[in-house]
Amino acid sequence: MSDLHVERPVVRSFKQKYVKEAAAHVRAGGHAVVWENDTRALLVFQKPSKENPDDFGAWAVYDMGKSRWRVHDRGTWKGLATTLVPRSCLWIVKRRSERDSVHPGPTRVLDLDCTSCAACCRDNEVFLERPDIERFEEAGRRDLMRPPFARRQDGRILLTLLPNKRCRHLRRDNRCGIYEIRPHACSEFPKGSECCLFAREDAFGISDGAAPQVEAS
Ligand code: SF4
Ligand code: SF4
Repeated sequence: MSDLHVERPVVRSFKQKYVKEAAAHVRAGGHAVVWENDTRALLVFQKPSKENPDDFGAWAVYDMGKSRWRVHDRGTWKGLATTLVPRSCLWIVKRRSERDSVHPGPTRVLDLDCTSCAACCRDNEVFLERPDIERFEEAGRRDLMRPPFARRQDGRILLTLLPNKRCRHLRRDNRCGIYEIRPHACSEFPKGSECCLFAREDAFGISDGAAPQVEAS
């Protein structure tokens, strides 16, 4: 049973000569991948909202390991945001538009049930931030910052996984064992974003659209 309905952007690929159509798709709520040539593509999305930590445009960029975009004040992209897709991520945007080729319209409503999924609690990297450490300390759970629950990596504290890649705090019923004090990275994980869709596909092979044909590279 799903417990959450999320309206997410549908991703479409456009050739450079169809930039106006790409801009219209984005203004209607979608994401556009505009191909200048086979090895250079722009991701176009609505200007991310600073007030919305779940902003799908921003997370579509974070999912490529980037954190910057340009908001245009003139031209075809006026009012929209663009970022150059890193070469290493071209397969990712190809796969997104391939997945969404079966969805009509610029957006779609996705039903999610996090307790039957928990894909983002597997094979992840959850680093603790200062407020997480303070919250653990206030709760009398300094043990959560030490082995076997956590280890040091690059000077930061990282939650550890079980050998089967599940987070050590993920219970058998798929609920978080430290839910009330869970790290910020967990409570802020954006449901229905590209990061969520990737986690579901990676953990369970669930594609929210056409089955992937594009190979990871
Ligand atoms: S991957 Fe998405 S649907 Fe699954 S538990 Fe995480 S946020 Fe919920
Ligand atoms: S701490 Fe809880 S919410 Fe975070 S990854 Fe582990 S089980 Fe999931």
